[in-house]
Amino acid sequence: MVKLAIHGGEPVRRSPFPTVNDKSGRNIGREELELLKRVVESGALFRYSGTMVSSFEREFAGFLGVKHAVASTSGTAALHIATGAAGIGPGMEVITSPLTDIGTIIAILGQNAIPVFADIDPDTYNLDPEDVRNKVTDKTRAVIAVHIFGLPADMDPLVELAEEKDLVLIEDCAQAYLAEYKGRLVGTIGDIGCFSLQQSKHMFTGDGGITVTDDDELARKARLFMDKGWDRSLGLPRAYVMLGFNYRMTELQGAVARAQLKKVRWVVERRRRVAESLTKKISGIDGLIPPKVPKGCKHSYWLYPLKIELSMFDATLDDIVKALQAEGIPAGAGYIGKPIYMAPLFTEKRGYGGTKCPWICPLYGREIDYYEGLCPQAEKTIRQLITLPCNEYFTEEDVEDIAEALEKVLYYYRRR
Ligand SMILES: *Cc1c(COP(=O)(O)O)cnc(C)c1O
Repeated sequence: MVKLAIHGGEPVRRSPFPTVNDKSGRNIGREELELLKRVVESGALFRYSGTMVSSFEREFAGFLGVKHAVASTSGTAALHIATGAAGIGPGMEVITSPLTDIGTIIAILGQNAIPVFADIDPDTYNLDPEDVRNKVTDKTRAVIAVHIFGLPADMDPLVELAEEKDLVLIEDCAQAYLAEYKGRLVGTIGDIGCFSLQQSKHMFTGDGGITVTDDDELARKARLFMDKGWDRSLGLPRAYVMLGFNYRMTELQGAVARAQLKKVRWVVERRRRVAESLTKKISGIDGLIPPKVPKGCKHSYWLYPLKIELSMFDATLDDIVKALQAEGIPAGAGYIGKPIYMAPLFTEKRGYGGTKCPWICPLYGREIDYYEGLCPQAEKTIRQLITLPCNEYFTEEDVEDIAEALEKVLYYYRRR
């Protein structure tokens, strides 16, 4: 039997893979520099002094086919702008997924609202709409559906629930540029869609975000929330008409974002081709479950998630991932490691100023706890989950190396 690299054998791969952390795996260069140069030469780096950010907003809205887009400083800001614009506040509950980036939850706690976690579907890793329905109370005001890894959440039942219970439906599309659900782009299905431009996302400005909606009133409030709650159209005295923050994107980010927008379709199409090739190559490996894409959906593969049927192997998830890493494959175990509600922020309710606020807010007046067992499917799934990068610059050889390493490692650990 071939010796695993982790046991001193020859690794499948010695050279690094293209990565989103640098130029090896990112399409950035001349086009960005040209627009950046224009900004620097103009001396106008503030969004209301120049035109890059407002042009980016117009172009992004056109790209998705929505009426409004509001740019901001991060995906977290884009989500906070959504909850702020939607009037989420103290005493209200917002339901979301426990398998997500903390930015999703910051948008809830940032409005002093209470995050409530619904379980996930173990096949898609997205919210289970049935469990979302189970978690609705008279305090529920919104649902944030996360399109995790780039696969659309099951939106039809969520839209139906939101209409029935009068909830705001927010889409976290940070990982899902151009993902499609029954012919519709994610971000255009709920009331508000939120995107991130952080370094690792399909299009990137280092940090950045954008919030989209077709609703004029939500858009007006989103714009105010992004700009200190200041209605600049009303003159002096300065009209601070609501609580907002400074989430303004700079012209420098706006310049890069406009150039990136022209490339994102290519990025997504490349990733789809890479993922399809990898799925084909590994579909014969018993006990390894490639991403399942429900009928009518298009995945955009921010990451490539794999599930391992651990009962078929004499190894833990960590053993397998460490062995893959030793083979030169940049695999990860469990994405965020544990459901997000197991972080001390939640289990110990570490709130504002070291108090348990907002959980003890009198406007809430209820008890809620976060503990192991809260979302059993999420807990079980994360323990079986391997994430692989899916980069637009992966070659067929790169894909072959990943497949070969998976085969090698899983063959070794297979229970006989
Ligand atoms: C990246 C990400 C965010 C937060 O975006 P930032 O730009 O890092 O603030 C939120 N939700 C999901 C699902 C993400 O992947």
